[in-house]
Amino acid sequence: MTQASELFTEAKKFIPGGVNSPVRSFSGVGGTPVYFDRAQGAYVYDSENKRYIDYVGSWGPMILGHAHPEVIEAVKQTAEKGLSFGAPTEIETLMAQKVCELVPSVEMVRMVSSGTEATMSAIRLARGYTGRDKIVKFEGCYHGHSDSLLVKAGSGALTFGVPSSPGVPAALAADTITLSYNDSDAVRSTFAELGDKIACIIVEPVAGNMNCIPPEPDFLQTLREVCDQHGSVLIFDEVMTGFRVGLQSAQGLYGVKPDLTTLGKIIGGGLPVGAFGGSRKIMEHLAPLGPVYQAGTLSGCPVAMAAGLKTLELITTPGFYEALSAKTTQLLTGLQQAADQAGIPFTTNQVGGMFGLFFSEEKSISRFAQVMHCNQDRFKRFFHAMLDKGVYLAPSAFEAGFVSAAHSDADIQATVDAAAEVFKSL
Ligand code: PMP
Repeated sequence: MTQASELFTEAKKFIPGGVNSPVRSFSGVGGTPVYFDRAQGAYVYDSENKRYIDYVGSWGPMILGHAHPEVIEAVKQTAEKGLSFGAPTEIETLMAQKVCELVPSVEMVRMVSSGTEATMSAIRLARGYTGRDKIVKFEGCYHGHSDSLLVKAGSGALTFGVPSSPGVPAALAADTITLSYNDSDAVRSTFAELGDKIACIIVEPVAGNMNCIPPEPDFLQTLREVCDQHGSVLIFDEVMTGFRVGLQSAQGLYGVKPDLTTLGKIIGGGLPVGAFGGSRKIMEHLAPLGPVYQAGTLSGCPVAMAAGLKTLELITTPGFYEALSAKTTQLLTGLQQAADQAGIPFTTNQVGGMFGLFFSEEKSISRFAQVMHCNQDRFKRFFHAMLDKGVYLAPSAFEAGFVSAAHSDADIQATVDAAAEVFKSL
């Protein structure tokens, strides 16, 4: 058994910052990252075999819990037939059919290997389809790390206080218009001025990269209306919300149909998968049918398709989302009561199995600026004290949390009990 500090020291010699994705480094909360060795159900186990109740779930994919036996079996059986071929396979079509069946606006879909690829490709398609260059995004939303989208982005970039990255050409960034999430008036006035130059709006229909912020009533509908009025493409980035907030994803939950949807995380069951899809009319502009180029050596990798398809099958069980949502509510109600009893200003947001925790005097958090005013120092202390007690939360005050079907009532109660003690010490 090796201590995390030793593993991290060794990693830093060979990997920038010791990590392959910045938020993992714990720079948002301080200290040494936990090194995981294995996971099962609601639990992750570190390199010294300490068990944690996990509310990160590999940042969302593990909606069934870790290492679900049926998902693992599907992966094993598929892997035995060969890992990838770079040629069409039947399982890709089965996956595409399933996505088209579940996600209301998707008539055709293309698989990629990450959320970043999905959003980058959807933006190119929107630009190619409309013949326009400008895009609209929202402050605090994160859509992966491609150039056009790494402009005042959230997630890791926000945690590091570097909203736009060096290396993003200024000319490209100039085509990205960043507005305030949930500010419908700003959207209307921007379109009144520039509508005929705007290729698309890209939005997280529930923002999950500035903690968890649900859309205000009519916000998504406003986006739909301005896109219709101005011939722009509406892209819902459902990499996080896809199959997380409901079986039909956020677009089903809120009853607003985008033109294009990006997916990731759950759709791969924990393996590297992303996807983008939408109306046939737009998707037919993609190569080889149309002129907009997009490709991927490992896209639709059969092993990843097997993990994703099995996951999608299992979440289709009747009552799955009701149970997940109820469990998440149970967790948040318990945490709120514990915080109130300890006199700690605290509030939460929830959409389905996705949640946000805020150390704030304000009772309703719906704007990026409010998230920035939360007590980050208190969050850091809360995070570390919970970690000591065997509860693994996202190591940043700007990330959403996730509950899985594997979390039992006892797990939720144990988490609330731990928090009750921790709140008293804050
Ligand atoms: N879009 C959203 C909404 C995301 O949450 C993320 C990742 N957290 C991405 C895109 C990028 O996905 P990936 O990390 O797989 O590139």
